[in-house]
Amino acid sequence: MNTAAPTEFEFPFLEEGFTARDVVEQKINESSTTDERDAFYVCDLGDVLKKHLRWMRALPRITPFYAVKCNDSRTVVTTLASLGTGFDCASKTEIALVQSLGVDPSRIIYANPCKQVSQIKYASAHGVQMMTFDSEVELMKVARCHDNAKLVLRIATDDSKAVCRLSVKFGAPLKSCRGLLERAKELGLNVIGVSFHVGSGCTDAKTYTQAIADARTVFHIGDELGFNMDLLDIGGGFPGSDNVELKFEEITAVINPALDKYFPADCDVKIIAEPGRFYVASAYTLVVNIIAKKVIMDEDSVSDDEDEGTNDRTLMYYVNDGVYGSFNCILYDHAHCLPVLHKKPKPDEIMYPCSIWGPTCDGLDRIVEQCYLPDMQVGDWLVFENMGAYTVAASSTFNGFQRPDLHYVISRPAWQHVQQICLQGMPAPAEESRLFEVSACCGQESSLEMPTKPCQARVV
Ligand SMILES: *Cc1c(COP(=O)(O)O)cnc(C)c1O
Repeated sequence: MNTAAPTEFEFPFLEEGFTARDVVEQKINESSTTDERDAFYVCDLGDVLKKHLRWMRALPRITPFYAVKCNDSRTVVTTLASLGTGFDCASKTEIALVQSLGVDPSRIIYANPCKQVSQIKYASAHGVQMMTFDSEVELMKVARCHDNAKLVLRIATDDSKAVCRLSVKFGAPLKSCRGLLERAKELGLNVIGVSFHVGSGCTDAKTYTQAIADARTVFHIGDELGFNMDLLDIGGGFPGSDNVELKFEEITAVINPALDKYFPADCDVKIIAEPGRFYVASAYTLVVNIIAKKVIMDEDSVSDDEDEGTNDRTLMYYVNDGVYGSFNCILYDHAHCLPVLHKKPKPDEIMYPCSIWGPTCDGLDRIVEQCYLPDMQVGDWLVFENMGAYTVAASSTFNGFQRPDLHYVISRPAWQHVQQICLQGMPAPAEESRLFEVSACCGQESSLEMPTKPCQARVV
């Protein structure tokens, strides 16, 4: 069964009846007694568990291989290892991270079609066999540097409807697949399947259907050439929150019938996917503090009525994390981040047009171009939800601004559920639904011991 799991998470259980949101409040209250008021995260690992259960319910035929690049936090990766997911690694360092948690190489796919030679050798030396390719040059490198690779041909998809397009960089066009497979045959390589990635922020679920149909075409060619094609990898791009145009269950409602049509359950093809944001986005809440503020009066305003003067000014808020830090997702992931207010506004509270800026001295460091917020003061807090994907993973300390502290939390029932899955595998659907009715949880500042074997890894 699952081999990796934490023996020890060094953070407290949520107290009985408390949620991650209560921890946010508590941290805000603690910080507000001082002038420190640094930005911080609260990460609810119970949310990662919920996502896993949601995945297994919606896509029972598909084993998730979590895309580590999305958030390589050791605690998150350990949690997922305990839950029995596989991992999509794109580099030697990501492979090393996952293997340091005791994850078996068979649970890793090296899903980078363009790899450095030394890193292919590293994968070979560490037993990682599954890897993607999309070109002839890559095949030649693998033939030279890997002892027994199981190759997966990454095909291009129509990602014109995705927010983050990937097929401009990766994926072989359908018409070149036969040539690539023939070349693999000549080189004596073993091709086991097909992968694709529809791009992230996909707004049309039919993209998956077309890609799955294309994969079937390539399977036929592979079979014809004598490969034993038995792996389909449908990639990532599944939304991490419900705050999106195309919801997770709307996508799965299209994927499942497409799989049943092109890869029916009796065809003996193992199906995997590479979700990244799906697992982590909503687990993280980022809390930032207003460090500076400007009021820009509009000279042309015709309103002389002070109280109704919502149009006569624009507010600029400066906060202590920005696009060089956690909000790099705005630049790299085309994210749109809007704050939720920490203090509920009064019903008659005036809302002003505002912009929100990061702390660095760069004009590019803007988080929100325009939104409506009340008149707040230096020292007030803003909360950003759904901040787990492509945030902490790529943030820098440009201009000397440090990364926010990270506080992990989990409720005791959620923790017990993770342990149970780690030791016994997924529960029957009927049992699983009970978990989230139980809001009760207990215990405090404890160092949490995982049971005994086979769970070995350790989280600090
Ligand atoms: C980035 C990436 C993923 C994860 O994408 P999400 O949109 O976070 O699900 C999966 N597979 C590959 C090959 C990737 O490059």
